[in-house]
Amino acid sequence: MGKIVALANQKGGVGKTTTAINLAANLAIMGKKILLVDADPQANATSGLGFDIKNEGIYECIIGKRNADEVILKSEDVKKLHVLPSSINLVGADAELATLQDGHFRLKKVLDPLREAYDYIFIDCSPSLGYTTVNALVAADSVLIPVQCGYFALEGLGKLLNTIKMVKSKLNTALDIEGFVMTMYSRSRLANQVTFEVKEHFKHLTYETIIVRSVRLDEAPSHGLPVILHDAASSGSKCYVELAKEFLKRNRKKKNEQ
Ligand code: ADP
Ligand code: MG
Repeated sequence: MGKIVALANQKGGVGKTTTAINLAANLAIMGKKILLVDADPQANATSGLGFDIKNEGIYECIIGKRNADEVILKSEDVKKLHVLPSSINLVGADAELATLQDGHFRLKKVLDPLREAYDYIFIDCSPSLGYTTVNALVAADSVLIPVQCGYFALEGLGKLLNTIKMVKSKLNTALDIEGFVMTMYSRSRLANQVTFEVKEHFKHLTYETIIVRSVRLDEAPSHGLPVILHDAASSGSKCYVELAKEFLKRNRKKKNEQ
């Protein structure tokens, strides 16, 4: 049964989508069957993997107009990587979900039947803690939290953790924190200090792998490719290969402990 992991942080521009795309792609290249669910109306994960953002996708599934298997797209570049795309249609979902009695559970109902077909399902959340993101936290087994190595890194994490706590207590008791991933690292006293603080605070939940700032990572989406197919030798690509390995290692360990 596949595990569902939401990538969340209500701050924009911290590396959620970059991490979602490249972690998903590397795991697929390593042989895992992966579904990447784009839960952001900006649809950056969809376009960043070269797909048209005008397709029907997650929004149509959430409102019950389509089944997931009707809208899931298969990557031509990475076998074993499938995408449940997003579009601007998703912009109204928060308001619509709020009017539904099962409004917190719509995405869970879409994704649960897909667990059998995949090893991992990643949900790339939007920079908000609205209804759609709460749907992702309700659907997920765990949350992976990208944290940008900068001055305001820790700002807002409290609010995110409170939201996770609320979801855990009321809507999804099994929700776990997968971990914190430091992103966009460039050597400086500030970046080192922020990394140190996150490690101090979140201990073993902080990933050893730190994602460096890399121009190739920034460029890759404009080619519709994960960075490993854009420039495998780049520092950014190597970081995400390491991250995928660490992700698998941590999950193997968790399974053994169960
Ligand atoms: P989010 O999904 O959290 O809003 P993104 O992953 O879209 O964040 O990243 C924000 C911007 O920063 C994007 O333009 C992306 O290409 C760029 N970016 C993300 N990670 C890196 C990195 N490690 N090095 C360089 N640019 C990055
Ligand atoms: Mg994003």
